[in-house]
Amino acid sequence: MTDVVKTIRDFAIDAYRVSTGPIRQKKEADLRRNGQVPLSVLFYHRIADSHPNGWTMTRYQFKEQLDWMDDNSTFVSFEEIQNRITKGHNESKCVHITFDDGYAENCDFAIPLLIERQIPCTYFVSLDFILTGRPFPHDAAAGQPLPPNSIEQLKEMAAAGIEIGAHTRTHPDLGAITDPDTLRDEVVTATLELADLIEKPIRYFAFPFGLPENLNADAFDMLADAGIQGVCSAFGAYNFPEQDPFHIRRIHGDPEISRLKNWLSLDPRKLDLGRDMEIHRPGAS
Ligand SMILES: [Zn+2]
Repeated sequence: MTDVVKTIRDFAIDAYRVSTGPIRQKKEADLRRNGQVPLSVLFYHRIADSHPNGWTMTRYQFKEQLDWMDDNSTFVSFEEIQNRITKGHNESKCVHITFDDGYAENCDFAIPLLIERQIPCTYFVSLDFILTGRPFPHDAAAGQPLPPNSIEQLKEMAAAGIEIGAHTRTHPDLGAITDPDTLRDEVVTATLELADLIEKPIRYFAFPFGLPENLNADAFDMLADAGIQGVCSAFGAYNFPEQDPFHIRRIHGDPEISRLKNWLSLDPRKLDLGRDMEIHRPGAS
């Protein structure tokens, strides 16, 4: 993107925020008074200064975002996000950081920074790529055979307090899978194998791609039955108190910090997004 386009975009976003400022402030005050402040969970993929692409953010951009979030929100664990949803009451902004896929270079800067600052993080990986060391097909096709994390890296991260989560075996679109055996292998068997590899139980799961059409009600049921405590989608929605805490909605950790600030500050356009979405699972109220 050219600098001119970027400047125009930033200007437009700032203008939008200024023009809606009083509405936002009133809305935010109402939500705080009613204990209905939304809870934000972000997803990132790869933090590195080499091989820029649509799913990579530079080290500087990532640190800049963490600094801003530190000043404007509270970092909490996945469990605390669920606790606040279950409690049905949340008065303050909070954010949880997650990563998807499992890129080795995250261990060069992003993960050490999170550990140093004691920022809770859930790190979702796809088993086959960890086991074989093969790059993701979309990276290979783009001429960027970027290395996935090793088992040793995942063990070290887990020992340092990073929560390792499951992200299927082969990173398929689970919304398109109808064969129950294939579905069970991707969501349950691969999760148990990952737990064996890192020698720690896996508590959370993230759906590849994460849009509503990529979710699968049968997979929700299988995961709940297998004792998984929470699953993630990724279509840009907030979480609200009193929603089903089993299904955590996530927002893209966008490289454009002005956009991220807008989303995390309270974007009125997001208040109804996915709010009534209900995906059946046993025992859900
Ligand atoms: Zn993914």
